[in-house]
Amino acid sequence: MYQHFTHVERLRRISETVEQELSGRFREVARLVEENQAKVLHAFQASRVSDAHFAGSTGYGYDDHGRDVIDQVYAKVFGAEDALVRPHFVSGTHAIVTALFGILRPGDELLYATGMPYDSLQEALGLRGECRGNLREYGITCRVVPLLDDGRPDYATIERAITPATKLVAIQRSRGYDWRPTFSVKEIAQLNRFVKSIRPELLTFVDNCYGEFTEMMEPTEVGIDLMAGSLIKNPGGGLAPAGGYIAGRRELVAMAASRLTAPGLGKELGATLGTNRLILQGFFLAPHIVGEALKGAVFTAALLEHYGFETSPRWNEPRSDIIQAIRFSREAELITFCQSIQAASPIDSFVRPVPSPMPGYEDRVIMAAGTFVQGASIELSADAPLREPYIGYLQGGLTYEHVKYAMLSFLDRILTEQG
Ligand SMILES: *Cc1c(COP(=O)(O)O)cnc(C)c1O
Repeated sequence: MYQHFTHVERLRRISETVEQELSGRFREVARLVEENQAKVLHAFQASRVSDAHFAGSTGYGYDDHGRDVIDQVYAKVFGAEDALVRPHFVSGTHAIVTALFGILRPGDELLYATGMPYDSLQEALGLRGECRGNLREYGITCRVVPLLDDGRPDYATIERAITPATKLVAIQRSRGYDWRPTFSVKEIAQLNRFVKSIRPELLTFVDNCYGEFTEMMEPTEVGIDLMAGSLIKNPGGGLAPAGGYIAGRRELVAMAASRLTAPGLGKELGATLGTNRLILQGFFLAPHIVGEALKGAVFTAALLEHYGFETSPRWNEPRSDIIQAIRFSREAELITFCQSIQAASPIDSFVRPVPSPMPGYEDRVIMAAGTFVQGASIELSADAPLREPYIGYLQGGLTYEHVKYAMLSFLDRILTEQG
């Protein structure tokens, strides 16, 4: 691929060096993918998935066996009692908010134990703005316990923040748009045990966005009551055209389903409109696709560290999501980064992204997403809120080779600019 760049020999040398350094990391990813592929395969077999399930439904969507089998396969893989996997979730935010509104009642308190939640959730939870229909309007409060300076949960403050009104403790696994470590499933299990030791009937919830298949276990396998995520991220495998999922304890999934459709309708309705095969096939591919994205992220970190960029996580640090954060020295460099990724995309490569306001986000945001599924961030994409320090968040990549190409094209531009 090097012939497509200006600095052919330099880029070839540096990538060969980096890939040699990464051989051990790549073997670890290969083992992770093997493990998760087998897990997914066994769930398909145990659920007796058949091509009849691809038919889907229209109208009310009664007796959609494909929809039911998708719920079953997800529940098995995630070690959950039940799941609600639907193309009707418009985004990850919608799935998370549906889960929270499904469980919480007036007078309840939601405690976010891992710092300020992801930007797009803040309005819905009543933490920012005066948006109609937010949690606060229903008399449900949301309290946030900031993380410690090292990015770890503040156990002492969490304990003090739990009151008789606290119903649900939420954990955000991924860093979102923050320069902080992602929480491993082991750390989530530890926090879960701590919360339950304070009051066993407290419910725990994980925003699992970007985390699926980056480890061999998921939060619901280590005692978390409910979790949610987006189908245009990891578990959609790049094929799911839209949607989200909620998985966990049966009773809680039912409460969320009452909120998504209507009480009394729950999981029984909802036409899948031809999406069943894509959701199933995407889930089957997801362990492999996540592996490609992980290799791409590790390559990006190693390559950019060679050129003095600060990265998080570093190439050799453990990962529990697919996000790679990179700190740039100037706004212009961050914009060049996003523009290089857009230019290296299969779709809309001719479009030049610029920073602009986005619904749900406080700062101007620049997004590179030359994707087949609009905004899908399991496909190679990058985004950054335009605020200091200038940090770009890279994620996804359906093939490792594509991520590698995009990163080399960014470096090529930087080398040219520096002369
Ligand atoms: C992506 C993401 C969400 C949901 O975002 P949507 O754009 O609504 O899908 C929520 N939390 C985290 C940590 C995320 O990364």
